[in-house]
Amino acid sequence: MIYFDNAATTFPKPPTVRREIDRCLRDYCGNPGRSAHALSLAAAEAIYDCRAEAAALLGVPSPEQIIFTYNTTHALNMAIKGLLRRGDHVLISDMEHNAVYRPIWALAGFGEITYDVYPTFPEAPECDTTAILSGIEERLKPNTRMVIASHISNLCSAMLPITEIGAFCRERGLLFVVDAAQSAGIEAIDCTAMQIDALCAPGHKGLYGPQGTGLLALREGLKMSTLLEGGNGINSLDGAMPDFSPERYEAGTLATPALAGLCAGIRFVRARGIDSIRAAERRLYRRLRDQLTELPGVTLYAPAREGSTLLFNLDGIPSAEAAARLDEAGICLRAGFHCAPLGHATLGTGEDGALRVGFSVFNCAEEVDVLVRVVAHILHKMRK
Ligand code: PMP
Repeated sequence: MIYFDNAATTFPKPPTVRREIDRCLRDYCGNPGRSAHALSLAAAEAIYDCRAEAAALLGVPSPEQIIFTYNTTHALNMAIKGLLRRGDHVLISDMEHNAVYRPIWALAGFGEITYDVYPTFPEAPECDTTAILSGIEERLKPNTRMVIASHISNLCSAMLPITEIGAFCRERGLLFVVDAAQSAGIEAIDCTAMQIDALCAPGHKGLYGPQGTGLLALREGLKMSTLLEGGNGINSLDGAMPDFSPERYEAGTLATPALAGLCAGIRFVRARGIDSIRAAERRLYRRLRDQLTELPGVTLYAPAREGSTLLFNLDGIPSAEAAARLDEAGICLRAGFHCAPLGHATLGTGEDGALRVGFSVFNCAEEVDVLVRVVAHILHKMRK
C-alpha cells in the first residue's frame, strides 16, 4: 500500500509517537490539572511539554499562548468567533478551506459580519506579493478588522507571503489569522516575526501527532471570547472562565494521550529539521510533477509552485473514478473537492474536482514512480 493522502492526515506516524501514546495510557494518564496526585501531575507535565515544544517550533515566546484544540477547524472557529465582533468586516483569500469559509459564511449569514475575498494568483509561476497586498488594500473598509490567510493551499502548494501580510496588517491595526493546516511542520513559522495574531494548526498532519489534536497560537495580550466554557480545575468557585491563556480557552478534559503523542511528533519534526523535511518533500514533488508533465492527458494545477501537495486531473476521467482505480492498485490519495470550493474555483478544476497527492517524510521516490506507472496504465486503458 502506498499512502499519498498526507495532506488530509499523515500516515504512518513515527514510532516514537506510537510509543509515547502507549506509555501515557499505561503509565501516567491521570486527568491533567484536576487533582494534585502523582498521575494527574504527570499528565499535566506531559501537556506542558507539548506546549513548550509547539511554542519553540512556532516562534511563540510563551508556551501558555499555545491553546490545544481537537483540530485546525476547531482552532479557526475559536479565533474567528472569539475575536470578531458584530459589524466587523473580514478579508479572506480565494484559496481558503471550508474551515475558514464556512464559519465566515455562517457569521455573515446571521448578519454578524460582512466579508470579501482577495485574490492570490496561485497559477502564477511565483508568488506575487505586491499584487496580493494590493488586492487586500483595495478591499479594505473602515470596519475591516481581520485578514485571514491560508499559509499554504491544501490543493496545490501555493504559499502566501505571510511575513508581508503580517506586517501590512500590524501597520494598519488589523488582526491577522493564519491557517497553517498545510504548513506547520513543513515550512518555517515564526509567529512573532511574522506578526501573526492567531495561528491555527493541526497536530495530525505535518506535526505527526494523532488525530484529535490541533492548536491555536494566540498573540500575548490578545483576548478572545470563549467558544466553550466549563471546568479545568482553575478558579473552580468562579462562574467566569479564567482570564488567562491557556486555561481560559481549554474547557473540559484535554486529550492527554493524544497530546503526549503530539509532543513526540513535534520532537520528531524538530530533530529532522524543517529545512530537511521541506527539501525531501519538494524532491518528491519535482519527481512526480516532471514525470506527469511528460504524460499526455494529464492536467496539472499550479505546477510551478513546488511543495508537498500536487493537484492534477486525468483528461476524460472523473477524479473519483481515477482515485478508485488507483485504490485498486494499492495507492491511497484523495479526489473530489478537498473542502475548498474557493480554491477549486480559483484554479478552475471543473465539475469533478481533482486528484491530490500529499507527501510526508515517509514517502520515497520509488512510490512516486509506481504512481506514475499506474497513472500511465489508467490513461492507456482509457484510450483503447
Ligand atoms: N485548512 C486547510 C488548509 C486544510 O487543508 C485543512 C485539512 N484538510 C483544514 C483547514 C482543516 O483541518 P482539520 O482537519 O485539522 O480540522
